[in-house]
Amino acid sequence: MSAASPQNPSDASAASAASADRAALPDTALDPALASRLRVVLVGTQHPGNIGSAARAIKTMGFGRLVLVAPERFPHADAAALAAGAGDVLDAAVIFPTLAEAVADCRLVMGCTARSRRVALEELAPWQAATRGRETAAAGGEVAVVFGRERTGLDNDELQLCHAAVHIPANPGYSSLNLAAAVQVLAYELRVGWSTTDAATGRAAPTPVAGVRDASQDGNEPPATHAQLEGFFSQLADTLDAIDFHKGRTPDSAMRKLRRIFLRAELDDREVRILRGVLADAQRMARLAGERDGGR
Ligand code: SAH
Repeated sequence: MSAASPQNPSDASAASAASADRAALPDTALDPALASRLRVVLVGTQHPGNIGSAARAIKTMGFGRLVLVAPERFPHADAAALAAGAGDVLDAAVIFPTLAEAVADCRLVMGCTARSRRVALEELAPWQAATRGRETAAAGGEVAVVFGRERTGLDNDELQLCHAAVHIPANPGYSSLNLAAAVQVLAYELRVGWSTTDAATGRAAPTPVAGVRDASQDGNEPPATHAQLEGFFSQLADTLDAIDFHKGRTPDSAMRKLRRIFLRAELDDREVRILRGVLADAQRMARLAGERDGGR
């Protein structure tokens, strides 16, 4: 039996009926404008059943946007079977070839890992991820929560594309949850953290958010998008090469540390432009110096 097949054939139809009932009830706990800012990104998923279960996990918590990066098998009957009443979330899933493309317009990208790795990324608990995500969503920014492959998780390059890592506290000797179970835990914490009342969650809700606002309207520049930051990091890497910063050492470790510093600064559009201007001048000076030395 494949790990992805439903344990109980009647489970899917019972769930469809139950969610059809619930569809009549408005979801008053979660601000729809906030919820619409969240995308759940599954990278390289191997079992299509997990994609279906993830769709169901997302929908039960009031969210609806599923993004798939190079899934191994999709669409697939197992995905549809395990999505049960969340076929609409599955049908609306958007597919991208790479993680960078899937999150290019995001202002906050959080990658979920079963174990801590040496990626020099800030590590958040699920409830901290919810708080951080809420701030970004309330300011009108797109938020992504990213999950890795069943067998190997997210690779280091993919984690480097994230602003923070999220770890669900678990049995240290057996800390790897099933993919869809991890999606469920995060979706639940996001629902609790993004709810405006505690009635539906049974937990004291954080201070209600004022709803989505546009940061550019309060005189603040919007935070940089993922693509803008990646453009800056790529230019920074080129500049470090041009000024011979590494001196034969491998560039990876320095770049990881520099990424962390700049991610912590939560740069906005304008700040990224200023920094890129500085880099452009440094690159120009390095070129001139190279020409001068070459002419000797
Ligand atoms: N063998 C893999 C585990 C993959 S589980 C590894 O060791 O990395 C599939 C995905 O579920 C992971 O990539 C991660 O996104 C999520 N996940 C599983 N357990 C988790 C945990 N304890 N905390 C955060 N994410 C978890």
